[in-house]
Amino acid sequence: MDKYVEVLSTYSYEHSRREVPRAFLPEVGLGRDTRMISIPERLLLGPGPGNAPPEVLEAMGKPMLGHLDPVFLQLMDGVRDKLRKLFQTQNEMTLAMSGTGSAGMETLFVNLVEPGDKVLICVNGVFGTRMTDVAARCGTEVHKLEIPWGQVFEVDAIVEEAKKVKPVLTALVHAETSTGAGQLLEGLAQPLHELGSMLVVDCVTSLGGMPVKIDEWEIDAAYSGTQKCLSCSPGLSPVTLGARAVERMEQRKSKVQSWYLDLNMIRNYWGQERFYHHTAPIHMLYGLDAALDVIGREGLDARFARHREAHETLKAALEPMGLQYVSQEGYHLPMLNAVSIPEGMEDAAVRGRLLNEFGIEIGGGLGAFKGKAWRIGLMGYNARTDVVERLVDALKQVLA
Ligand SMILES: *Cc1c(COP(=O)(O)O)cnc(C)c1O
Repeated sequence: MDKYVEVLSTYSYEHSRREVPRAFLPEVGLGRDTRMISIPERLLLGPGPGNAPPEVLEAMGKPMLGHLDPVFLQLMDGVRDKLRKLFQTQNEMTLAMSGTGSAGMETLFVNLVEPGDKVLICVNGVFGTRMTDVAARCGTEVHKLEIPWGQVFEVDAIVEEAKKVKPVLTALVHAETSTGAGQLLEGLAQPLHELGSMLVVDCVTSLGGMPVKIDEWEIDAAYSGTQKCLSCSPGLSPVTLGARAVERMEQRKSKVQSWYLDLNMIRNYWGQERFYHHTAPIHMLYGLDAALDVIGREGLDARFARHREAHETLKAALEPMGLQYVSQEGYHLPMLNAVSIPEGMEDAAVRGRLLNEFGIEIGGGLGAFKGKAWRIGLMGYNARTDVVERLVDALKQVLA
């Protein structure tokens, strides 16, 4: 196999490869001319990315600007203001890190903890597990509070554990994309604060699809990503830090171990000083700005209600087909529906047919749910009943 074919077969699906016979791709300068590959229209109903609305795609095709251009700086300021409203916070330090959701996770850990610090991490799926890895790489003493995948934590259980561990930071995932379980956050921050612990929350999948009330719930720091319920391309990670977190950041004794993610420097680029740190990903910010405008026009309450409606419609159709939700009853996420694969059905074959015959992508299971569950995302732009109908129609044909 030549290099090009190898790369292509790694990244594209059988279907799109069939569309463009490779032999027809002419050689140009550095290799084959890939402009001839037609990127197929997919309905992306997996764990993200989902589809982006036309406004976002259009914004991402606008002309390039310099990253210190006054027009671009104005756009950055607008993004900060809009992110604050979305996070429902007054936090001055609210900005978009360059990098995907995982970069947001890493940003908070590298800035808020120092080697030797005790941290408490609640683990009930892939992303809590990832947090333990990130925290350990910061040299912290990681304490895990683990429950079976798909279950959610009782506030009291977390507080009891924090009493024993005495962590400087407690972290958990709001919407666990690997299991479809939604964690309640109310009432958690105050007892943790009394114990001297900050509360850090992963809002990658929840932000833009269900309420995330940073100030009301007294969350000290949170991060998200652009490709889940914000319906933008992957590439930016909105973060917000409250007073307690900023103070902790300013009082640390050791340097932040990551130069790239050091908020002490990045705040001066997003702030009025405009100190050059790294070049902002220009078009990603155009996209995020447009995505936030789409959200603003719809309104948060209407958007959250639309997610719930799409979820209820899907649930009502799936359960009679024998597809049972795998997460704890009463805590199903609207934007991520993880359902068991029926007896006798082959995971990869079903997903392959959905993609190749219907142009629909759904997600397979991760970790404990690998081969056992499908993950159906109804995120942002895709949280619509007409989308649900298209999927259910296709699923019925494939499972028949
Ligand atoms: C997707 C996701 C992440 C990681 O985001 P990337 O953009 O893939 O880096 C982290 N946490 C949760 C809950 C997620 O769903």
